[in-house]
Amino acid sequence: MNTTSHAQSDGVAVEVRDLRKRFGTEEVLRGIGFSVAPGEVFVLMGPSGSGKSVLLRHIIGLEEPDAGEIRIQGEPVRGPGVLDRYRVAMVFQSGALLNSLTVAENVGLYLSEHRLRPPEEIRRIVAEKLALVGLSGTEDKLPGQLSGGMRKRVAIARALVMEPQLILYDEPTSELDPLSARVIAEEILSLRDRIGVTSIVVTHDRDLAFAVGDRIGFLNEGRLVAVDRPDRLAHHPDPVLQRFLQAATL
Ligand code: ADP
Ligand code: MG
Repeated sequence: MNTTSHAQSDGVAVEVRDLRKRFGTEEVLRGIGFSVAPGEVFVLMGPSGSGKSVLLRHIIGLEEPDAGEIRIQGEPVRGPGVLDRYRVAMVFQSGALLNSLTVAENVGLYLSEHRLRPPEEIRRIVAEKLALVGLSGTEDKLPGQLSGGMRKRVAIARALVMEPQLILYDEPTSELDPLSARVIAEEILSLRDRIGVTSIVVTHDRDLAFAVGDRIGFLNEGRLVAVDRPDRLAHHPDPVLQRFLQAATL
């Protein structure tokens, strides 16, 4: 595989320490701690409402914790400095594409808005990122003309424009058919293997969790009740985790 045209990222270590968050009377995060190694795909799996998205929003600095801390490469995440320096990108659950802009405009938005590169170079970078997610030639399409799976891949391409060292995914396969979900799973692994990106993948989809996770953390009611390699999770004693793993549908 030719990787020479892509900036090499060594990935970054992430450390979450005793994170707590309350919304009104509801304690949503009840002391969460875990660490992610550079280049690792770390999955946060758990039922709906367990606090996965809130946790991810803390890591990208969209929420202020009541207590605890998040560090990237040892540096506390406060304000945008660290997130910019380590180029942390998030792929939102909705994809968050702008429907009136073309695929190329969506993917290049970060560069054009910050006037970081001349237009012809933006075009080249956009084409390179679209090729990475298998969407070459879709530049002039509108998001509405694409399938759900393709829109997710556009959202990933848009994140890649930042040359991220850390990518956070919120439910990257929700609303996707199994085949498109598999393409996304392969994409996440390919970014680890080809570019060395560190990923945190939030999902309630067990198939995705086991397909991509180097390690999986199981979140339930604001607590991380288990963190382990996928092959060992099946033997974990937590009863809620076992019910979750055995349930036919969620
Ligand atoms: P999920 O694991 O499904 O992603 P969330 O992290 O979105 O769960 O939500 C966890 C809990 O926190 C839910 O009970 C949700 O209603 C609550 N919550 C999330 N965001 C807010 C907010 N901004 N204000 C109040 N409650 C919130
Ligand atoms: Mg969520």
